[in-house]
Amino acid sequence: MHRLLKRQIKKIGCGDVECTSAQIKRLLRLVDQTYRDGDDDRLLLENTLTISSKEMQGLYQELERKSQKELAKSEERFHRLIENLQNHYFFYVHDTEGVFTDLSDSITNILGYTKEEFMQYYGDFLSDDPMNAKVYEYTQRALSSERQPPYELSIYHKDGSVRYLEITELPLLSATGEVEALEGIARDITKQYAAQEKIFHLAKHDDLTGISNRFYLDEQLQTLLASAKRHEKSFAMLFLDLDHFKQINDTLGHDVGDRLLQQVVARISPNIREEDIFARIGGDEFIIVLTNVDEAYLAVTIGKIMELMRQIWIMDDYELKVSTSMGISLYPQDGKTMIELMKNADIAMYRAKELGRDNFSFFTDELNQIVHEEMRLEQDMAQALRTHQFKLFYQPKMELATDRIIGAEALIKWDHPQMGMILPDKFIALAENTGFILRLGAWIIEEGCRAIARINRTTNTHVHLSINISTRQFQHGDLFKTIKDALDENDIDPKQFTIEITESVMMENSDEMIRRLEKIRELGVHICLDDFGTGYSSLAYLHRLPIDAIKIDKSFVDAIPKDGRKAILLDTIVAMGRTLGIAVIAEGVEEEYQRDYLIKQGCLFYQGYLFSHSVREEEYIEYLNENALLAIDKY
Ligand code: C2E
Ligand code: CA
Ligand code: CA
Repeated sequence: MHRLLKRQIKKIGCGDVECTSAQIKRLLRLVDQTYRDGDDDRLLLENTLTISSKEMQGLYQELERKSQKELAKSEERFHRLIENLQNHYFFYVHDTEGVFTDLSDSITNILGYTKEEFMQYYGDFLSDDPMNAKVYEYTQRALSSERQPPYELSIYHKDGSVRYLEITELPLLSATGEVEALEGIARDITKQYAAQEKIFHLAKHDDLTGISNRFYLDEQLQTLLASAKRHEKSFAMLFLDLDHFKQINDTLGHDVGDRLLQQVVARISPNIREEDIFARIGGDEFIIVLTNVDEAYLAVTIGKIMELMRQIWIMDDYELKVSTSMGISLYPQDGKTMIELMKNADIAMYRAKELGRDNFSFFTDELNQIVHEEMRLEQDMAQALRTHQFKLFYQPKMELATDRIIGAEALIKWDHPQMGMILPDKFIALAENTGFILRLGAWIIEEGCRAIARINRTTNTHVHLSINISTRQFQHGDLFKTIKDALDENDIDPKQFTIEITESVMMENSDEMIRRLEKIRELGVHICLDDFGTGYSSLAYLHRLPIDAIKIDKSFVDAIPKDGRKAILLDTIVAMGRTLGIAVIAEGVEEEYQRDYLIKQGCLFYQGYLFSHSVREEEYIEYLNENALLAIDKY
């Protein structure tokens, strides 16, 4: 009997009573059986539970193992992504005033700056590429909640290289819907940009020679025209056509023809400036645009190109002689549009061919004459120097208070056998462009020193003489040695010798120029800054320069009012010269009232037509004998 049934029967006090009733016996058996069945069921259930809980545990463990692996995997992917992004993106937030409030560390990977550097000096890092002109505008648009596509900008990396970024900006809104800040994503697109640039370059350049193609020439000319119009500048268009090129192609083959064209480009390119344009527009047709020209530069460059083209071309076993015909049109006088200028340069080129090829022609006749004349002067110069056609003239410099001569400025003229007396305006710039100024300038120094010695001897005075030094001479020539040798050879006191330089000498490499000036000055030679006030150096800069005198430009003297009012600029220069202990000379004094004004202002010296033009040596000596101030230390 089931132990539970046994206990229950005992509990109701039946003990081991003999149950006789068959029915009760049957009932007990049934109850006993039910108890046993219940036990079996429970056992079964417990077993099932144990098994399934075990199973579940296993499952769970496996699941945990699996998901950890998955998690690690995706975490790794995420890390890699971030790392990748770090080299291509950075993020930032700035407030409505443009002040950065947040910036991702990846800025250092992309642009080299620390976060702090970038947040503080961002504005200084933008390059001056025109593409940056609208950055402010784009940001303002984003701040006014306007949707816009990403834009591009160019910025300096800390190492100095230029990088390109694509910027996507979104406004951050407050709960009430107002723009609070701006969130930006910057993507480094430098590589894509470089690739794009390369494609652009290929599209714009001639395959054979690498210079601009016709399509790009159009674009360059449009830009140039716009800027020339705005700044009222002129430029020249040179239309070149090789003479008899077809013959070369036909007889020697296209390969030789192609290589000739390449050599043409190689010869001309180094002889034009960076800012000039060089394009091939057809088989053997080239266009050169010389930007910002004056007549002297034009004459020299045209002459140089014609000469370069004339020289023998060596190709394998061939020695070719090829010449060129060139037509020139000028902006703005020969045309205001690209088409007009090209058409007129082309017409001029045909005229050059008619002249017998190997020739050039301007569209305008008048210019033909001027430039041909300049070329002639250029060719005549060397001979002129050998045959003593250059002469120094002397313009006296006066002490204002006493009107006595303190010295003179030597001014050069050219006594040309056919063309008569030529003024320096006509040939100095030309000589500067060809480099002839170096030889001519040396002669001027030597002749100046010889003149001082002669004048000393014949007048018994020891006044000074100043000579003009051109900037090119100062930059390239061995000025110190030329001056020292000339002084020594003529045995003259360096104090009697002054050089006049203009402020443009200081334009580039001014430390080096100051050193050179100091070295010359140590000889005892005086240095005078010519045309003062027209150049670049500010008054504040003046005290740094090793100079003894400044010459106030004629334009300031011209500006002295007749009616007794003040000439403020001139007054300032005079006063400042006095403060710095630098002598001040006024040049171009033509009228009595100008002299009076200068005296009143305390200016000490002048030169000008009021007393005399520049005169020959004999005449200058006569002046000196009449009223020279004898001391040379005075100035
Ligand atoms: P610059 O050095 O400023 O010379 C002064 C010019 O003004 C001279 O012209 C002179 O004749 C002129 N001038 C003097 N007083 C007056 C006046 O009262 N009124 C007017 N209207 N003009 C006056 P020039 O001789 O024709 O020389 C012109 C320029 O040529 C010089 O300007 C100088 O830059 C250059 N130059 C002259 N001689 C030489 C030289 O030997 N070497 C170099 N490198 N340049 C020289
Ligand atoms: Ca001068
Ligand atoms: Ca001057």
